[in-house]
Amino acid sequence: MGFTTKALHTQPLAKDAHGAMRFPIYQNSAFEFEKAEDLEAVFKGFKYGHVEHKIRTVSGALGVLATATGMAAISNMLFALLKSGDNIITTKYLFGNTLSLFQTLLSDFGVEVRYVDLNNLDEIKANIDAKTRLLFCESISNPHLIVPDFTAIKSLLAENNVPLIVDTTATPWNLFDAKKHGVDVEIVSATKYISGGGHVLGGLIVDNGTYNWGNHATLAPYTRKFGPNALILRLRKETYRNLGATLSPQSAYLLSLGLETMDLRVKRSCDNALAVTKHLQTKPEIINVSYPFLEDSTSYENAKKHFSAGGGIVSFSFGDKASAYAFLNRLNIIKRGTNVQDNKSLIIATYHTIYAEYSTEQKVSFGLTEGMIRLSVGIEDLEDLIADIDQALAHEEPLVMNETSPEQTYTFDV
Ligand SMILES: *Cc1c(COP(=O)(O)O)cnc(C)c1O
Repeated sequence: MGFTTKALHTQPLAKDAHGAMRFPIYQNSAFEFEKAEDLEAVFKGFKYGHVEHKIRTVSGALGVLATATGMAAISNMLFALLKSGDNIITTKYLFGNTLSLFQTLLSDFGVEVRYVDLNNLDEIKANIDAKTRLLFCESISNPHLIVPDFTAIKSLLAENNVPLIVDTTATPWNLFDAKKHGVDVEIVSATKYISGGGHVLGGLIVDNGTYNWGNHATLAPYTRKFGPNALILRLRKETYRNLGATLSPQSAYLLSLGLETMDLRVKRSCDNALAVTKHLQTKPEIINVSYPFLEDSTSYENAKKHFSAGGGIVSFSFGDKASAYAFLNRLNIIKRGTNVQDNKSLIIATYHTIYAEYSTEQKVSFGLTEGMIRLSVGIEDLEDLIADIDQALAHEEPLVMNETSPEQTYTFDV
């Protein structure tokens, strides 16, 4: 069966008493068990929720844990795999909150975070030592849209018994067969594409079953107890239960519905994104248009090798903040907002918002500029998006900043 057929027809693990065709919401926190043995099985961790079961079916994963948000998926995964004194390898080109988590909490808890250029395999190799517990990156980095060579990184990591953990939010399973390309664990913010268009929060930790946790210093003792599914079972039985990041039943229901139409929405958003990108490239006032599926993009080869489309996010720049803001403020259909992979097209000047709490030096080191814009392309009719961009650029008025909103400076170092 194909992706959408599975998303629509995966049978729930238990039949609904009334034959409901969509797994209903049970507004309930305590459940009765038929037999004492069933209760024992739950305590031992051998039970899945409906959303997790569906995700296991469409992804072919070994185990899945659903969480309240994408950030909960990331933090739970880190708490399950790391101890004070360990280190991880990553890049500075990350989703803003993930970078913030790495730079504050993780450091405070005694984990060293090593930032490398993921396209430089020698640099990755030089940073691996006996205390390296994982390499974390995103399938398409934020906001620069860089795609690493996952298969090459995986070969290097495999020699050193380090698992490859990738936030694949931007490229769900219908675009990217992460398991085939060497990704051991996928982290997904279900808030994005899976949700069905920006109405619910959720997260997933997906263990593809390709890494032997018996070789991992933190999890090896758990494999004796839980076998090959040690990561998900340690999470379920300890980390996640103790931290408390449960997905609500309403959210699980909406995610399950969203999954049914995800393939249609993702493909439409990717087709729109490529067309919008090509249109932006024809505009002289717009510079540095970046999209992984552009043939002149430095990520083109890696993107083609791994993905069936280039994702829904485009980044580009104006020469300065005033021109960028004038453009943003004239848009009508494309909304100023911070979500991504929404049904609606959303736009934001990342330097002044998502990265506002960082110092100028840090922002420069992340490669950000004042006129930089991130556009998450939705599923509107393409002609309407193009017309909105054109009318926002066509204005003849001088570009004046709103003087009533003085520049504020925040610094991140504490
Ligand atoms: C949104 C997002 C997250 C965080 O997800 P939440 O569900 O908002 O907590 C993590 N990684 C990426 C790439 C995201 O886009």
